[in-house]
Amino acid sequence: MSLAEIRSEIETAEAAAGRPPGTTTLVAVAKLQPVERVRQVLEQGHRDFGENRIHEAQRKWPNLRNEFPDVRLHLLGPLQSNKVGAAMELFDVVHSLDRVRIARKIARLADASGRCPGLLVQVNTGEERQKSGVQPSQLDAFLDELKPLDLPITGLMCIPPMNDEAALHFGLLAALAERHGLSDLSMGMSADFASAVRLGATFVRVGTAVFGKRDYSLR
Ligand SMILES: *Cc1c(COP(=O)(O)O)cnc(C)c1O
Repeated sequence: MSLAEIRSEIETAEAAAGRPPGTTTLVAVAKLQPVERVRQVLEQGHRDFGENRIHEAQRKWPNLRNEFPDVRLHLLGPLQSNKVGAAMELFDVVHSLDRVRIARKIARLADASGRCPGLLVQVNTGEERQKSGVQPSQLDAFLDELKPLDLPITGLMCIPPMNDEAALHFGLLAALAERHGLSDLSMGMSADFASAVRLGATFVRVGTAVFGKRDYSLR
């Protein structure tokens, strides 16, 4: 799909849900895409990009950022303790916070540096054993533990199980966010972003539909 087609589907879904236009941010997921492909999307004026791995982002983005300084980078993949500093230098928004220990480290480094990325808590809405994210039943306790750290936590993120009806997970995530007064919802990918927008997504994370197939040899 072209960027214009994706944006237009997002606008249609916003309107269908009675939401104001432009309240969803399209995060173009650039993982495993060649730099030239990413540059084309930058040249079309797009500025929000997502990556899964810090190492890959460190290879790709410092140069592109020199050319396009107003880029906003979103970390979508797991964050390990030894990479927190590197992630905070590179990323504007982290969608995958799910451990108190990592939150503490972010808070420490934010105090020292005076800057902190926006943070979303990943929720394992499908309660899948192999998947990252806080269990829905643990979310209250998790957010309570984070409160004293005074971090800029703005919302929740989920990656629904492969074979489930995604909308059920989007609805659950929206309900959890509302209960906690969190305004951001990061949900919806290439196959289901319109449904996510109808259910309130403020960030959709779209890779394949923006760029085409990923090139796994780039890993
Ligand atoms: C890769 C990825 C996406 C994008 O997936 P597509 O199906 O290519 O749109 C979205 N979110 C996360 C967390 C991802 O890892």
